[in-house]
Parts: sequence; C-alpha cells; structure tokens
Amino acid sequence: MNKDYDAIVIGAGPNGLAAAIELAKRGKRVCVYEANETIGGGARSAALTLPGFVHDTCSAVHPLAVGSPFFKNLSLAEYGLEFIYPPAAVAHPFDDGSAILLHRSVAETASQFGVDARSYQRLFEPLARHWEILAPELLGPIHLPSHPFVMARFGLNAIHSAASFVKSRFKEDRTRAFFAGAAAHSCLSLHQLGTTAFGLVLLTLGHTGGWPIPRGGTQNISNALAAHLKSLGGEIVTSSRVKSLDDLASSACVLFDLTPRQILHIAGERLPSGYKNKLGRYRYGPAVFKMDWALDGPVPWGARECTQSATLHLGGSFAEIEASESAIWEGKCSERPFVLAAQPSLFDSTRAPAGKHTLWAYCHVPNGSTIDMTERIENQIERFAPGFRSRIIARSSLSPAQMENLNANLVGGDINGGAATITQLFTRPTIRTYSTPLKDVYICSSSTPPGGGVHGMCGYHAARTAFRKSFKRVGE
Ligand SMILES: Cc1cc2nc3c(=O)[nH]c(=O)nc-3n(C[C@H](O)[C@H](O)[C@H](O)COP(=O)(O)OP(=O)(O)OC[C@H]3O[C@@H](n4cnc5c(N)ncnc54)[C@H](O)[C@@H]3O)c2cc1C
Repeated sequence: MNKDYDAIVIGAGPNGLAAAIELAKRGKRVCVYEANETIGGGARSAALTLPGFVHDTCSAVHPLAVGSPFFKNLSLAEYGLEFIYPPAAVAHPFDDGSAILLHRSVAETASQFGVDARSYQRLFEPLARHWEILAPELLGPIHLPSHPFVMARFGLNAIHSAASFVKSRFKEDRTRAFFAGAAAHSCLSLHQLGTTAFGLVLLTLGHTGGWPIPRGGTQNISNALAAHLKSLGGEIVTSSRVKSLDDLASSACVLFDLTPRQILHIAGERLPSGYKNKLGRYRYGPAVFKMDWALDGPVPWGARECTQSATLHLGGSFAEIEASESAIWEGKCSERPFVLAAQPSLFDSTRAPAGKHTLWAYCHVPNGSTIDMTERIENQIERFAPGFRSRIIARSSLSPAQMENLNANLVGGDINGGAATITQLFTRPTIRTYSTPLKDVYICSSSTPPGGGVHGMCGYHAARTAFRKSFKRVGE
C-alpha cells in the first residue's frame, strides 16, 4: 500500500480545508488540490475595485464560523485569525428612518418590538440558553438526537414556513420583517417549509456568538485554516484543477469539496447509474447577484443605529421581503430586491485607505439569471442611505455566471452548494450524504449536511466518515 498520500481533498474551500485538518489531526498524510491560484473558495478576499481596498469576494459575515463546534476547537487565533465584533449583529432599517438592531442580549433586542417583546423573549431565551446543545445536533447529518426534548422544542417551530410562523407569533410588521430578514438567508421562498429554522438559528447565533467579521478580510479565515493544516504536515497545491480522478497522486481515499455536477464530470464514468441519476437530479437553488463598492466616506445611513452593525438587512417591511424572495422561485427578480449588505471597513481600518470605505452586498436572483441588478441594489441602499451614490468611487458587479467562473462550485450562481429545501437539507446530496458508492471516495462540500456557510462542519463530518470507513477497517 505505498500510496503518495492517505487522503486527497479536491477543493480548498472552508469544508475542504476542514476535512483535511480533521484527517491530519488523526495522523493522516493529506494533500489538497485547488483549481484557483488562491485558496479559500467562498472564503476569499481581493482588491475587486481599486488598489488598497480589500473586498470579500464571497462570504463576509461569520456567525456560523464562530458558532461552529469544529472551528471552536481549532485555536485559529494562533494562526492569525482575529474576529471583530461590532456592537450589534444586524441592523434592519425602515422607511421612517428608524432601525431595529440584533443585540447580544435577548431582552434588549425584544425591547424594540412593542407588543411582540414578550413573545420574542420567550422564543429566543431558551434557544440562546441551549445553543451549545443545539449546535452539534443541527450542524450535521440527521441522527437520533442526544437531547430529544431540546431538539423537539426547536423542531416544532423550525418546521414551519417563516411566513406562517411570523404571522402566528408576532403582531407587529417590524418584528415580522426583522425575522424574515434572517430567514431569507435560506435563499428559499418564505412560504417553504423549514424556513423558520434559518431565522431561529441565525438570530440565536446573534444572541450567543455574534455576527463578526475577520480583521483583514475573510481570506484570513482560509489562511488560518491553511496554516493550521500545514502545521499538521498537510500540503496544498494551488492552480491545479482536477478533471479526472486519474489526475491525482495515489492516495488511500479522496474527498470532493465539490458539488454533484462537478463530481459527475470528474468521476461519472465510475459511478453506478442509480447514484449517477440521483446526483443528476440534485436541485440547485437560486443565485446571487453580488456587488462591492469603494466609497469616499462611510455609507450615510438615514437611521443612526445602522452604524452599530457590520450587517444590514435592506428590505423594509415583511411584505416586501416576502415578495422579493417568492419572486425568485417564480423565475423573476423583484424591482425592490431584499439586499444583504456588509460594511466591514466601519469596524476594520485595514479594509480601505484612511477615510475611505468598502461596502459589500448581494440580492437573490433566479439560478443562472442574466439580469443586471446593479441599479436595483443601489436604489435599495440609496433608499435607506440618501446620498450613498455620491460616495461611490468604484464598483464591482458579479453576475451568477461570473460567480461560477470564479468558483465552479457556484453552479448557476447558487452560493449554498444546492437548494436548502427541507427534502435536501439533512440528506444532501443523497441519503448516503458523505459517502458514495465508490470505495474510499467521499463528499465533504456544502452539498452535504449541514449545507452552506463558512463553518467547516460538512468537512469535519465527511473526514470522520472517511476515517471510520477507509482507515479503521485496516486497523490503523
Ligand atoms: C457571494 C457569497 C456570499 C456569501 N456570504 C456568506 C456569509 O456572509 N457567511 C457565510 O457563512 N457564508 C457565506 N457564503 C457561503 C459560503 O461561502 C459557502 O457556503 C462555503 O464557502 C462553502 O464551502 P465549501 O468548502 O463547501 O465550498 P467552496 O467554498 O465553494 O470551495 C470549493 C473549492 O473547490 C475549488 N474547486 C472547484 N472545482 C475544482 C476542481 N475541479 N479541482 C480543484 N478544485 C476545485 C474551488 O475553486 C473552491 O476553492 C457566501 C457565498 C457567496 C458565493
């Protein structure tokens, strides 16, 4: 068995790096092949507009990274990663010039919701209290829960569509809109079952770990993971796009940090037809249209509170957010899209030259959409920040096709490695999740549970599966 490596990981995204670290920690010789010149996949930064401005190419805000049980155990601070915690996790402005903030304290957050204050508090206090129990249960494959009562209480709410949940729980439109902003991160219509789960998890993360940004840019998460991997003896080869399993050095097992479509291209010939058909039927979700700006001053928000948070949810009322997210599932783009924005330079001076600022934003669009959303996104920002356009020095727009060009995992511009519908959440991409019918070949990308986000949990669970199946049986 004189193999070059014990494990080869294809793709140096956060899940590929997480899988490689977990195997290296278990004494395995690991090599990661990355198609791009730079590592990180959805966790990268670059000067997308002008020299001196650092923009996050994909992910920007990291409640899932600090909430990840796997990352928590890695001591990434020792490898240069520092998170910055703005005073509030999210700001949600309204047309009347006010805004609601997601504070660490449930009570302080609830106090903004008028008659819904008690209802909000009763919902989130137990979730925040039990988050350490819930996190490992939720961020992995389906299994018998170790804490069935806590999970049942979460599940009974989580299963509902966000649209029906907010109507039954909250009376005020502002509370409903605030919840909808978090639930809309699912990239699903708010009428789809299970969308409440996204709102519950993301708001609870605001009450527990916060929604921080990495100092210097999201690239630093990937750099810290890579440095940790190298300290364990792991190797990374960049500019090395894998087109066939025959391209690889010899190894005891292979893990794909890729989505089903690329796996079919690379290994399709070897896969049995039943499994191949299932991968072929795997459903990708809506896409994003992504923008970055270099600004000659901070965003002039109408609501003062918006300067308290790196993350902004721009959609105003519940009805507007609901309509924007539903339109996408009908193949349309709203005139007033729900915009997710981040203003990292307000809290991290390394992101822009002195006195200048960066802004990051995206809205959801149908998969593969070719509609240029630049004007609609800028209109939404201008609506809540009059004078915004006059501060723009340079802008970068990335359409779904351009996103896929940057990273083949972003199929049609889908940022989550496949739709996060209830039928595809815990059993993605098939019921086998991390395993494939090919001996010693595994999947570790966000196309496995628990899905999209920078948390490394897909990689961690895939590596554990690979270790159990490919190494334990030979007594290693
Ligand atoms: C615009 C955008 C905004 C986002 N915002 C957030 C956010 O704020 N917070 C958050 O938590 N998440 C966010 N996400 C989601 C997050 O980035 C992804 O869920 C996460 O990166 C998935 O990690 P992964 O390792 O599974 O795959 P990826 O990060 O996609 O990594 C896959 C890697 O494989 C490489 N690759 C592809 N094909 C090959 C091949 N044939 N050979 C070798 N290498 C290959 C790619 O180049 C890439 O580096 C965002 C994503 C996007 C696109």
